[in-house]
Amino acid sequence: MHYDYDLIIVGGGLAGNCLALALQDSGLRIAIVEAQPRAQLQASPAGDRALALAAGTVNALEALGIWQDISAKATAISHIHISDRGHFGKTRLSAAKAQVAALGYVITARDLETHVADLVAQSGALTLIAPARVVGLMAEAEAINVSLKQGDTSINLTAQLLVGADGGLSSVRTLLDIPQHISDYRQTALVTTVKTSLPNANTAYERFTASGPLALLPLGKYHSSVVWTRNTDEAEALMLGSEKDFLQELQSCFGFKLGELSLTAPRRAFPLSLIRAETMQAERAVIIGNAVHQLHPVAGQGFNLGLRDVMQLADDLRPVAQRREDIGSRQLLSAYSQAREKDHARVIGFTDSLIKLFSNDWLALAAARNVGLTLLDHIPAAKALLAKQAMGLAES
Ligand SMILES: Cc1cc2nc3c(=O)[nH]c(=O)nc-3n(C[C@H](O)[C@H](O)[C@H](O)COP(=O)(O)OP(=O)(O)OC[C@H]3O[C@@H](n4cnc5c(N)ncnc54)[C@H](O)[C@@H]3O)c2cc1C
Repeated sequence: MHYDYDLIIVGGGLAGNCLALALQDSGLRIAIVEAQPRAQLQASPAGDRALALAAGTVNALEALGIWQDISAKATAISHIHISDRGHFGKTRLSAAKAQVAALGYVITARDLETHVADLVAQSGALTLIAPARVVGLMAEAEAINVSLKQGDTSINLTAQLLVGADGGLSSVRTLLDIPQHISDYRQTALVTTVKTSLPNANTAYERFTASGPLALLPLGKYHSSVVWTRNTDEAEALMLGSEKDFLQELQSCFGFKLGELSLTAPRRAFPLSLIRAETMQAERAVIIGNAVHQLHPVAGQGFNLGLRDVMQLADDLRPVAQRREDIGSRQLLSAYSQAREKDHARVIGFTDSLIKLFSNDWLALAAARNVGLTLLDHIPAAKALLAKQAMGLAES
C-alpha cells in the first residue's frame, strides 16, 4: 500500500518535536503538523514558565542531540529545600551528598521549545507542515487518513501511524473518541521571574503554604523562576492587583532566605486541572505527552513524564521500522501502552496526593506532615526519594 508518510505527528510542542528528532534517522518518512507559526512560539507568554528537568530527562535530551547546544542556558540544581510555611518541618537534599553532579536542571520553556523547533526545521529528514491543524481522522485496516486545514486549503494525507502530541486540549484525543477525565483543581499557577538580592546557590525551593505550594527554581545566580499556586479567586486578585502588592504577598509567603525579591518578568496565570485520557491507544493511533496526561505543575513532572513516553515509543518503533514492518500494528501499540501505564499511574497518583496533602491546613494533617518532613530530614534514602519526586526529578 502507498502511504504519503509512514508517521504523522500532530503537535510540534516538546513531546512531538522530540519524538520526530528521536526518529529522524530511522528511515521513516515523518511529517509534523503544527498549528502555531514559528513567530508565535517565540512570543508565546506560556514560554516564560521554567521547566525543572530530571537528570534522566537531560540524559535523554543529550542522547537526542538536543541538550549540547542549549545546556549553557540551563541552571544546575545543587540543593533542594522543601518546607511547610508556619510549621517546623523541612527537608533538604544536596547533589554533593547524593554524589551526583546535579539533582536536575532548570531552563525556560521558551529556550527549550524554540531550540527543539529549530532542530526540527533544520532537519533534512523531517517534513514540517505549519501552520496547519488536524480537523479529521479516519482509521482503516491498513492506513489512517488525516485531514488538515492549512489556511483555506484542505489537505488529505495517509500514514501507517498517527501520533497525537497536541497537548492538554488535544483535538486528536477528541477525534479518536478517547474518553477523558478532567478534575478542575480550582487553582491557578502564577508564574513570573524574580531577581533576588542574595545568590540562590543553585538551590530550588519548594514551600508548602496554607494557600498553596510555592516553588522558586534557580535561573542563573541571582534570578529564580516562581511557580506559585493559589486558589482561583486569590490568583485573580493577585493578577489584577498592583505589582507592588503581588511582590509584597510573594515575599511574605516565601520569606527572606534569598533576601529582597523584585519582579523581572510579567505575571502569567495558568488555570490548573488534571486531564487524563482513559487510554493512549486507538486504531493506528497513539497519544503522548500532555495529550494523555496534563498534570498540576506543583511537582514539575509534565515534560519529564512526556519525554519518557517519547523515548519508549521511539525505542519500540525503531526496530520495526528497520525490519520494514507495520509501525501502526495493534500489537505494537498495545505493547507501548502497557509499557507506559505504570509510570503514568505512579506520577499522576503522586502529584495528586501531594496537592491534597499540602493544600490542607487542618491541624492534625499539618502536624502529621511536619513530623513527616522532620523525620524525613533524618532518613537520607526516604528524604532523597521524596525531595526528588516532589521536584519532578525522580526517574521512572
Ligand atoms: C506553570 C507550568 C509549569 C510547569 N513546570 C514544569 C516543570 O518544571 N517540569 C516539567 O517536566 N513540566 C512542567 N510543566 C509541564 C510542561 O510544560 C508540559 O508537560 C509540556 O510542555 C507538554 O508538552 P506537549 O508537547 O505534550 O504539549 P504542548 O506543549 O501543549 O504542545 C502541543 C502542541 O500541539 C499544537 N497543537 C494543538 N492542537 C493542534 C492541532 N489541532 N493541530 C496541530 N497542532 C496542534 C500546539 O500548538 C502545541 O505546539 C509545567 C507546566 C506549567 C503550565
